[in-house]
Parts: sequence; C-alpha cells; structure tokens
Amino acid sequence: LAKIIDGQKLARALRVDLLKRADAIAARRGTPPGLAVILVGDDAASAVYVRNKIRACETAGIHSTCLRFPSTVGNDELLTTITELNEDAAIDGILVQLPLPPHILLDQVLEAISVEKDVDGFHLYNVGGLVTGNTIFSPCTPYGVVKLLESENIAIEGQNVVVVGASNIVGKPMALMLMARDATVAICHAKTRDLAQFTILADILVVAAGVPGLIIPQMVKTGAVVIDVGINRLPDGRITGDVDFEGVSAKASCITPVPGGVGPMTVTMLLENTIASAERGLARSGRLLENMDS
Ligand code: NAD
Repeated sequence: LAKIIDGQKLARALRVDLLKRADAIAARRGTPPGLAVILVGDDAASAVYVRNKIRACETAGIHSTCLRFPSTVGNDELLTTITELNEDAAIDGILVQLPLPPHILLDQVLEAISVEKDVDGFHLYNVGGLVTGNTIFSPCTPYGVVKLLESENIAIEGQNVVVVGASNIVGKPMALMLMARDATVAICHAKTRDLAQFTILADILVVAAGVPGLIIPQMVKTGAVVIDVGINRLPDGRITGDVDFEGVSAKASCITPVPGGVGPMTVTMLLENTIASAERGLARSGRLLENMDS
C-alpha cells in the first residue's frame, strides 16, 4: 500500500521555521513581514480561501490586511490600490484573489503588481522567469508540490513526469518547475486523446484537472508517486481530489490525500514567498547602506 504523504504535517513543520524568520525580520526592521490581499466581489469560495490565507499568516508572524471591493469596482480603482501597495514599505507581498469579475482587465491588474511583491507569481515577468530560470516568485501550488517531493526525498531528475491539467496557475508552471529539475515532462489536458497511454508511463503523476475520480488504478504505473492537486466538492459536501485514492493507493508507492496533501502546502508557500520577499528587501537595503558608507 502506498505511503501517504502528509502535507499537513510538513506544512506545520515549515511554519515553525517561517515564524522564526518572520520574527527575525520584525526585530531587524521594526515591522513584521506584510501581506496585502485584494478580494473583489462576494464569491463564497474566494472568501473561504482568503480567510484561510489570513489565518495562516497569523501562525507565521506575518501581518496581513484584506482589502475588500464590491464586484462593481472599477479597473482604475484596483490599479490605484495596487500602486499604493507597491509603494508601501510595510507590504512585502500583494495577492489578488482570483477569479475577478469579467469587466476587470485581469492582465493589467496582475502586471500592475510590483514583480518584487508578486507572491502569487502570476506577473508576466515571474511567469517568463519560470521558463528562463530567473523567476523571483514561484507560484504557490506547484512550489508546494516540489517541496512535498523534496521532503520525501523523491528524485525528480531523469524521471518521467506526467502533469494532467494545463492551467496557468497549476499545470503549466508545474511542468516548467519539474523540467527545470531535469525531469522528462508530458502535459495532458481535456483535449488529450487516451489520457491513460500517457499516465501509465509516469514515475511521478501530478493531477490538477478538477475532475473527481479521473485517475483510476489502471492508469497508474506500479510504484508511481501520485500527487493529487484537485479539490472538488461532492454533492454531499465532502471534499475529494481527482484520484481514486483507495484504488490507486494499492498501486502507487506514495500518494497525497485530499484534503491534507497539496492544499496546506499551497498556503504555506504563500507564507514562504512573503517572508522571502521581506528578506530580499532587507538584503537590498543592507546593500544600499553599504554603498552609502563607501
Ligand atoms: P482549471 O480548470 O483552470 O484547469 C483544469 C485543467 O485540467 C485544464 O487544462 C483542462 O484542460 C484539464 N482537464 C479538465 N478535464 C480533464 C480531463 N478529463 N482529462 C484531462 N485533463 C482535463 O483548474 P486549475 O485552476 O488548474 O485547478 C485544477 C484543480 O486543482 C481544481 O480541482 C482546483 O480546485 C485544484 N486546485 C488546488 C489547489 C491546491 O492548493 N491544492 C490550488 C489550485 C487549484
């Protein structure tokens, strides 16, 4: 039976270290690391995600503020808010909770965020940096998956990886991050013909399609590592992933549960990105002071 990779446990352990780093930042500059979350409209799921992020910040010594706007907010008002946050020295990370209402120009909003504060990693610079290897912030969900694999000492180099799902926030950056670690990567999506012919080859199978029960045991190679990114709410209210957990557990060597796998890691990497941003800010101001001295 597959080993269950406990994302909750790893997330807890990482947050102990993050809290220490946050305290060190607060001691050096007088203010804790700061995250600003912009929430537009009253989408119930978005509100839950934002609440989780704000709560998580508290556990890691990060000061967070949530700026709420009605769904009728104008594009310019959002851009002005982002510009102010870009200039606010107490804010190290800016996150715009997606989705935004259709009248808002998503690309404009994401690119208004300073690349130095783009803790979600959705700015074009950071997206491009994933391709060329000089990204400042990696997007939180794929970053969390990489951390999970590393924590289990699962080799990535030279492995056959299949990523199911090709979205901009999960599938594509996931594929790029694993390619950067020298895996052989295939990306599948809704138009892929005969998904199983690809998934069966995977040493590491990452599934982010949003389709409950998509991956059944016949599609998985014996001994594969299976990472289930999916979060689906069933009609009875239960949360489930994209993988038939029971069935696939009998074939895989390692598997992440849903909930308790990738989810807690995603939020933890947001905290990591925010703290890393504050540390980089301190390093920059340190260099500035050195230059002024010399
Ligand atoms: P999305 O809807 O933007 O993209 C889904 C992708 O899966 C698309 O590329 C689509 O072509 C592909 N797909 C859909 N049906 C498929 C099928 N039958 N076979 C193969 N590919 C198929 O979704 P997303 O934002 O990338 O999220 C994917 C899933 O991951 C969702 O369940 C979402 O809730 C979850 N998610 C989890 C976390 C986390 O922290 N664990 C974070 C983000 C998203």
